[in-house]
Amino acid sequence: MTDVRDTLPAADAALLDRLFSTLPPGTVLTGTDIGPQYQEDRRDRYSARPLFVLRPSSTADVSAGLAACHAFRQPVVVHGGRTGLSGGHRILPGEAVLSLERLNALGQIDTDSASIEAQAGVALQRVQEAANDVGLMFGVDIGARGSATIGGNIATNAGGIRVMRYGMFRAQVAGLEAVLADGTVLTSMKQVEKDNTGPDLGQLFIGSEGVLGVVTRARLRLHPAPVTEANSLLALPSADAALDLLSRLRSAMGGALSAFEIMLPEVYHGVCRHLQISPPLGTKAQVYVLAEIQAGPLALTAQEVFETTLMAAIEDNCILDAVVSQSRREFQALWDLRDGCADFVRTLPNVANGDISVPVGRVPDFLRESQTALRAIDPDSVFLAFGHMGDGNLHYVFQTVRKEPALSQLLTMVAAFGGSVSAEHGIGVDKKPWLHLSRSPAEIDTMRLLKTTLDPRLILNRHRIFDLADGL
Ligand SMILES: Cc1cc2nc3c(=O)[nH]c(=O)nc-3n(C[C@H](O)[C@H](O)[C@H](O)COP(=O)(O)OP(=O)(O)OC[C@H]3O[C@@H](n4cnc5c(N)ncnc54)[C@H](O)[C@@H]3O)c2cc1C
Repeated sequence: MTDVRDTLPAADAALLDRLFSTLPPGTVLTGTDIGPQYQEDRRDRYSARPLFVLRPSSTADVSAGLAACHAFRQPVVVHGGRTGLSGGHRILPGEAVLSLERLNALGQIDTDSASIEAQAGVALQRVQEAANDVGLMFGVDIGARGSATIGGNIATNAGGIRVMRYGMFRAQVAGLEAVLADGTVLTSMKQVEKDNTGPDLGQLFIGSEGVLGVVTRARLRLHPAPVTEANSLLALPSADAALDLLSRLRSAMGGALSAFEIMLPEVYHGVCRHLQISPPLGTKAQVYVLAEIQAGPLALTAQEVFETTLMAAIEDNCILDAVVSQSRREFQALWDLRDGCADFVRTLPNVANGDISVPVGRVPDFLRESQTALRAIDPDSVFLAFGHMGDGNLHYVFQTVRKEPALSQLLTMVAAFGGSVSAEHGIGVDKKPWLHLSRSPAEIDTMRLLKTTLDPRLILNRHRIFDLADGL
């Protein structure tokens, strides 16, 4: 059998020699051993064949693998669960893959500090289930929970449906370990909340999309599981009414309001068709909202206050129609409907998609003004926005035959409204042209400075977030 190294340029073969000799068997994949899954892309774009795949099963092996790639100036793209939506894990020609799939150990829960240690390749859902098993809960939930990994969640600072109550992924990270491009290991995993001995280096890697280092481990905060949990699907006459309702629920429920999700009518009815269910609310409305509350043992009246607040909003014509879940099954069915939105819009043709945020109070104006502006570009545009109105983040999906000018118009308006062109999914490769709309030249220069300092040979996730001249 031909050894793949015989067919490679001398430098590549020498690098593989070093990797095969320093890493345990099964860690380095080449040739036909590389399965097609590594080239999967959530956006269905072309992902190149990797030069080789590294599947380390320890931090030491991540370090040894990166040190070798650094020595040989071999570009590497980091893979978690490959559910990212900005092309960050897509393989560029000439890159090798560093997959965290075998770094998948989950530690014991420390109930004293309410935290759990997870290696980077652990799926988010495993952390959620482990917390549930001992009466705790994990604060972040996203539709891709079964495949998305803790390392990928940290690298993208994932958000999801309960940011208003628990914050984004950054807020869940109590300690972190990362490996720099040259193999240096930075471990900051103390089991103490307070450690003000200089800047928190772990923070650098949260949301940095793998351009500054590879996350290998984290200690994650857990929360008491709610004693009361309820949700309600609501039909509303307008986005202004949704904002009014958000304010009423916030005043009445305080921090117990855990989710406030919005769906425009086209996506609401479309996802019901997609899931082959009859719409839980048949009432025609401009906006549908899924609101959720979670409360601890002291808030015994939470459900009653929730329902009373909704009743008052119905009497004031702020809500047209409502259904409140009466069982765990109904509760889950309402979330399944909301979770199905992403899959439903993926089935549609001519879809443009902005993962944007604007200040919460400006969501109604933004929806109105953006639709007017986009209809001026394509009068047949169909609007299918859904998302996390409670924190101002909309998955602004629309169908148009004039995708490029329409998206450009949308994102320019986001910037004018003081929002972000990528609220959750990062910049990756796909959103690089828009970074300047959300970040100043000084900020982008500082990001570049960090990159060239921590990864001077530009081997790690190069051409993600921003471009730099190749290898210094
Ligand atoms: C159906 C669906 C629903 C989704 N819902 C949400 C949502 O509500 N909120 C949200 O925020 N996102 C959502 N996402 C996007 C996606 O799930 C998140 O971005 C997730 O955090 C990516 O994790 P991953 O393990 O799949 O990372 P990948 O896709 O493998 O990688 C994402 C980026 O992180 C880098 N990376 C991965 N692992 C590491 C590591 N260990 N160290 C350093 N860099 C690394 C990669 O190189 C890449 O740049 C959704 C995606 C889908 C498909």
